[in-house]
Amino acid sequence: MEEIRTRFAPSPTGPLHMGSVRTALFNYLFAKKNKGTFLLRIEDTDKERSESRWEEDILSNLTWLKLLWDEKETRQSDRTDIYEKHLRSLLEQGKAYYCFCSPEELEAQRQSLVSNGKTPKYIGTCRSLLAQEQEKRIQRGDRAVIRFIVEEKHLHFDDLVRGRIEFDTALLGDIVIAKDLRTPLYNFTVVVDDHDTRITHVIRGEDHIPNTPKQILLQEALGLPRVFYAHLPLILAEDRTKLSKRHGDNSVTRFRKEGYLPETIINFLALLGWNPGDDREIFSLQELEQEFSLQNIQKGGAIFNMQRFDWFNSLYIRKMSLAELTEACLPHLQEAGLISNSSEETKQYASKAVALYQERLQKLSEISSLVDFFFMETLSYSKDLLTWKDATEDTTQSALQKSLALLSALLESSWDKEKISATLLPEAEKEKNRGYLLWPLRVALTGKKASAGPFEVAVALGKEKSLSRIQEAITMVTQSRGV
Ligand code: GLU
Repeated sequence: MEEIRTRFAPSPTGPLHMGSVRTALFNYLFAKKNKGTFLLRIEDTDKERSESRWEEDILSNLTWLKLLWDEKETRQSDRTDIYEKHLRSLLEQGKAYYCFCSPEELEAQRQSLVSNGKTPKYIGTCRSLLAQEQEKRIQRGDRAVIRFIVEEKHLHFDDLVRGRIEFDTALLGDIVIAKDLRTPLYNFTVVVDDHDTRITHVIRGEDHIPNTPKQILLQEALGLPRVFYAHLPLILAEDRTKLSKRHGDNSVTRFRKEGYLPETIINFLALLGWNPGDDREIFSLQELEQEFSLQNIQKGGAIFNMQRFDWFNSLYIRKMSLAELTEACLPHLQEAGLISNSSEETKQYASKAVALYQERLQKLSEISSLVDFFFMETLSYSKDLLTWKDATEDTTQSALQKSLALLSALLESSWDKEKISATLLPEAEKEKNRGYLLWPLRVALTGKKASAGPFEVAVALGKEKSLSRIQEAITMVTQSRGV
């Protein structure tokens, strides 16, 4: 069987967004599943809009996602000579021609067609210019584009997702394939490149369906074999319209910065339009490489559900080892100014804090506001927070004093969760609610309304810090009471 070769062909005109990653992923998976080859092609023919920073963004994010391409990436801007050769050949064979119609003329043509109830298309004014005439006007510097003569016929292709798709190419009119010999356009370069890199399957978003007949006609004109096409369903936002910038920043960089894991993005995107045929939903990239098939791609749009995305992320965060999770959280702690280095000591302390929140994290960036109190010299919170429900300041103060006395008596070597709870729980249970003792303690240690439990926090903070925080709380209440 012929080797299967796919490609991801982004234009570096903006950051890599989630929709593009889904396309990259499906191309990657189809190639891997079939022991084929996955290529990356940078489509930078639009010189004004293409920027190297976006190319870097694409390459670095694909690498981070482990969607690695199998051969050196190609760049269309390196292939201008090759396109020129093909353009010349089409011109020489009379399959393409220079069109000198001005934008104003084209607009007037379009309007007249529309007002007569006809499909707007190029009416072919310049098609009949003789080759010498074309040449003469080009030499003299007249502005022109290169149009490809679209043969009028019924054309169909068998889309691997959507089945047979038919077109009447008479609706197209002659299409512009290059602004000039050195500035070819998308539909043309794709055809040349897909052939030169021996692509067998073109897998891309369904918004490209209207381009497919144009590309098929160009293949035919250039004498190239057809490739297989698979057009993927749209990704919809929760309002069921096509996911776009309007719905917010969907770039990989954004989600990466917020602390979504690559495993999350891969798993989540794989299920946007594909399913394994049963109700499994947790897949690693390696598993997907085994399971993926084009048959299980749906035709209807797939909804990008943020809650589900978060759910996948908390799942993958829980699967991490504590060391991995700590390592992944360090940049976030650093960015928030909570730590200034990543020495072994810092890591060890941070990992104690991180461990308390592994179960609750939805994204890594949340870590800073959850564990900030671990890294602060002094906590700042309102005294009222120390008071449990209907307790009086008196009760709060004596509760804190009790905790201080009991905990001070514990040896450093007994500073673990079991011993701390064995010391405090019997005391807490003497009251009608544990909250009377434990709430002020927890607030004293964390300065927060919500946090992990006081025993775990005390262990992670260590004895010295814990006692001094309780002392600070006592001082706060005492001072406010003026006693
Ligand atoms: N550069 C095109 C895009 O970003 C590629 C389309 C195709 O795969 O042919 O949409």
